[in-house]
Amino acid sequence: METLWSDFINSKWRDWRGSERSEDRMNQEKWQNYYLQQWRLKAPVPADEETVSEMREFRDRLHEMSIRLSEGAAVSDDDLGFLNTMLHTGPVRRQLDTEGDKMTIGLVPLREDWDQVMAEVAADFAHTLVNGEAGRIRICENPDCRWVFYDDTRNRTKKYCEDKTCGNLMKVRRFRAKRKKEQEEQEHGQED
Ligand SMILES: [Zn+2]
Repeated sequence: METLWSDFINSKWRDWRGSERSEDRMNQEKWQNYYLQQWRLKAPVPADEETVSEMREFRDRLHEMSIRLSEGAAVSDDDLGFLNTMLHTGPVRRQLDTEGDKMTIGLVPLREDWDQVMAEVAADFAHTLVNGEAGRIRICENPDCRWVFYDDTRNRTKKYCEDKTCGNLMKVRRFRAKRKKEQEEQEHGQED
């Protein structure tokens, strides 16, 4: 499942097919527009250079933390301090609304800039931790991909970002490796 925070981390794109191509999309207008639209956030595009470098720093820290948590580590005091600093950069106001016949109370972002966007990303990540679901943070097991995602499957066994892409690719690779091994064994057998 794609979330606000995983989508942000995955702005660092790597070619899952194994060409070793990679691309940091954070400074691209196309990515910035996509991201704001996808998550219904507002900020100026293009983001200026200084902002982009702050966003990258924030992203890399969040990425590093996701990897650690996916390996079963606990949230450290350092992590907590870091997330709180990010949360405080985006002020919100409470707002009561109606949705059909239900009433909701939500938080409306006060600013329309990338600091606010980062605070929303940190808040979404914090919700993941608060709901006790840090154990569902995953890194795609295709070594060429390493996409960060949230495992929302019932049995918590999702290994790849997408079964259709990385899942299939790894299946093919395993099959080829097995066949190669069998062939090698056969050839050795003939030599004896
Ligand atoms: Zn993948």
